Amino acid sequence: MLSNSLIEADREHLLHPLSSFRGHEREGVRVMASAKGAWLTDREGHRLLDGFAGLWCVNAGYGHESIVEAAAEQMRRLPYATGYFDLGSEPAIKLAEALAERAPGDLDHVYFTLGGSDAVDSTIRFIRYYNHARGTPERDQFISLEQGFHGSSTAGAGLTALKGFHTGFGVPYEWQHKIPSHYLYRNPVGSDPETVIAASVAALTAKVDEIGKDRVAAFYAEPIQGSGGVLVPPPGWMKAMAQTCRELGILFVADEVITGFGRTGPLFACEEEGVVPDFMTVAKGLTAGYAPLGAVFMADHVYQTIADGAGDVAIGHGYTYSGHPVSTAVGLEVLKLYEGGLLDNGRRAGKRLMAGLESLGEHPLVGDVRGRGMLAAIELVTDKGAKTPLPAAAEAGKRVFDRAYKNGLIVRAFAQGVIGFAPPLCCSDEEIDEIVARTRRVLDETLADADVRAVM
Ligand code: PMP
Repeated sequence: MLSNSLIEADREHLLHPLSSFRGHEREGVRVMASAKGAWLTDREGHRLLDGFAGLWCVNAGYGHESIVEAAAEQMRRLPYATGYFDLGSEPAIKLAEALAERAPGDLDHVYFTLGGSDAVDSTIRFIRYYNHARGTPERDQFISLEQGFHGSSTAGAGLTALKGFHTGFGVPYEWQHKIPSHYLYRNPVGSDPETVIAASVAALTAKVDEIGKDRVAAFYAEPIQGSGGVLVPPPGWMKAMAQTCRELGILFVADEVITGFGRTGPLFACEEEGVVPDFMTVAKGLTAGYAPLGAVFMADHVYQTIADGAGDVAIGHGYTYSGHPVSTAVGLEVLKLYEGGLLDNGRRAGKRLMAGLESLGEHPLVGDVRGRGMLAAIELVTDKGAKTPLPAAAEAGKRVFDRAYKNGLIVRAFAQGVIGFAPPLCCSDEEIDEIVARTRRVLDETLADADVRAVM
């Protein structure tokens, strides 16, 4: 039994990310105690199948001894080395080299951060510096997508398009602009791939015209929009957007914080369309969540411009923990696991997951099933023809999560009635089938909810 003192201490002292302080006081915490493979156990002994890999990150599953050993060994030998003063450590150098070798095109230079938000924030700083270095400092305007998520740093939260990350925080800044998402299920231009791609290209071109052709620095997009509700663009969308950026003379930043490291199939989702962005951000799967680490990939042409522009002046951007030896040692071990079978297993399991979720398409509440690889969602509606979202009274975010939890399943229950899935890539066929079976139970219980019934 979980001691009340732990719940009380949490209530009084621990601020949880993305939480309502008052709501959390009421609800209290559910403490996770241990985990193995795709399974979590909470402090009360409930076993939970983790259909969300923590927070889209524990790609290798829990309890991998070789990762634990890599961290322990590095901690014993050299727990910390700064990258300042031209110092460094072996795992940071080796991981940068390994990543650069595997990244698309000329993304040859790697800057390590602690996670995704500071990776995105670092791209903003580098891009501004790049334009300063090439004598175009007036290119200081940034564009991203509606429904996009690019972290919650002070500047990055303004590229993020989710209102909850703006209200009360004074963002977006006037230099941060949005264009509509491809959101196929609810796109006003319809769901024909060619039409949706053409609309996105036209929207970006029009936004650059509106802001001023010489003012725009960069366009940011996730290969699949994650926190906006797992929105999968039509094939060819990213290639068309990257090409448009090139024609407009602006940089293209691919935010692969969720999609990187096998989540959609290949190591990086950009590979699927042969896209080479000017910057790429990663985190999460980079260490499979075993240690905090993110990275910015910088294209060689950007690097050369910054290097020439700065000359012998130190570029004033640096974190104490950039290239942390323990995190990068973990990253090296996790990369070995990806290439030793985890990517292959993820691709196989991803096909089974999509087929399983598609089999839920007949359920009266399921309006849309979408995904690629081990990244998927179902969108709940009360009227399939009219695509009517669940009523706010049904509290989809909270009640769906609670129902899943009671059924021994962790999923991402978005407030708008979207259920997100991102299981560990190590899942067996049986575990994938179990995720689908438990989700079906959650759907049936949601259908029986009086607040849902009231509108059907
Ligand atoms: N970019 C994307 C696409 C993300 O999904 C996230 C986190 N979900 C971030 C950036 C921010 O990463 P972090 O939470 O590690 O700061």
